[in-house]
Amino acid sequence: MKKQVVIVGGGPSGAYLALLLQRQVKSSDTFITVINKRERSLWLPATPRNLVEDMTEQLSGPLDRLFEGNSECGRVITDEVVSVGEKSVTLVSGTVLPFDVLVIATGSKWSSFVDAPDSHADVVKHFAEYRKKVADAKTIVAVGGGSVNLELVGEILAKYPKKNVYLVHSGEHVLKDLYPLKTRIKTEKILQKLGAKILLNTRAEIVPGGVRLSTGETLEADLVVPTTSAKRNTDFLPPNWLAEDGSVLVNLKLQSTVRPDVFAVGDVADLPEERQLAKLEAHLNVLTPNVAAYLAGVPLPKTYVVGKEALGMTFGPHNASGAAKMPLFGFVGIPGPMILSLKGKDLMTGKHRSRLHY
Ligand SMILES: Cc1cc2nc3c(=O)[nH]c(=O)nc-3n(C[C@H](O)[C@H](O)[C@H](O)COP(=O)(O)OP(=O)(O)OC[C@H]3O[C@@H](n4cnc5c(N)ncnc54)[C@H](O)[C@@H]3O)c2cc1C
Repeated sequence: MKKQVVIVGGGPSGAYLALLLQRQVKSSDTFITVINKRERSLWLPATPRNLVEDMTEQLSGPLDRLFEGNSECGRVITDEVVSVGEKSVTLVSGTVLPFDVLVIATGSKWSSFVDAPDSHADVVKHFAEYRKKVADAKTIVAVGGGSVNLELVGEILAKYPKKNVYLVHSGEHVLKDLYPLKTRIKTEKILQKLGAKILLNTRAEIVPGGVRLSTGETLEADLVVPTTSAKRNTDFLPPNWLAEDGSVLVNLKLQSTVRPDVFAVGDVADLPEERQLAKLEAHLNVLTPNVAAYLAGVPLPKTYVVGKEALGMTFGPHNASGAAKMPLFGFVGIPGPMILSLKGKDLMTGKHRSRLHY
């Protein structure tokens, strides 16, 4: 009997793990099943630009070539895991799949425009409808000054400089305190130069036709984009596997602290760091050999090192800001042109698709 590895989630984390792991195990003794709720694997960093320029095909990676030429080693199932038993997972279709190793890669549950549906046809429709709303709106209010809304405001104003675009943020400056004040202020200046009206130290309550501000004022808007914050996709897991915020409790081997046969990768892992794709290669460098070692019954060789933080935001094709934490120096600003060239004209969507053999 082949050992069964079940990877739940086929976003970048689950999909790339499957690509790497199939090269580290023997197809004669291991079989990998990737279960992804969504028909395709979305590259979320391109979603803000997708609201002003149709990039849906570029940012949607099909998963059917994940085991190309290696079908005896694995398969992809489009379905949702609804519960986990002692040694099996149950899918919404009713199928029960046994596992020897379970990897949770279910990422984040987003709100607003990032909360795309599951079927590809619906994803196309979802973004087309949002694009129309943005194109038709004269006044847009984004509530919350996190990186997703900042990029969204930048994309909208880069494409439509005449629109009235407000960003309402409860803090003294945009972004989290984690990032340097200089970068936060620079980001505000870039957006203001593009035409954004940034209201700091202000809360907004969404009301019909706009938002009511904590200052007492009401802003009328044709489109309000609420805070795009994320939760973890872990409702199907036993509560004792989870941290308070719903992420999967792991040690630095990326192995569950509750079950040695369970691992987690990507956004869903409970690690003291910002959740970003920028961390994914480091997660995979630890997780892939550790899962292979677990299957072989030998000690897990790799330990994850926490602490590398970087943020690179783009605001349309010509503006960017960000900072990276350097050993000894702390955070240093990253020049905008460097961020623009790293992310490229296609915001790395081409790399995602080519990794999935497209
Ligand atoms: C607008 C935006 C911009 C961003 N920009 C950047 C950036 O510039 N740089 C950066 O490093 N990071 C960025 N991020 C963060 C980055 O997108 C996430 O870190 C990344 O998507 C995490 O990948 P993942 O595979 O862990 O999870 P996800 O991408 O969330 O994928 C999880 C997958 O699991 C599936 N799934 C969920 N539940 C189940 C279930 N029960 N059964 C089966 N399948 C399930 C989902 O359908 C999905 O396909 C951005 C995020 C957003 C929203």
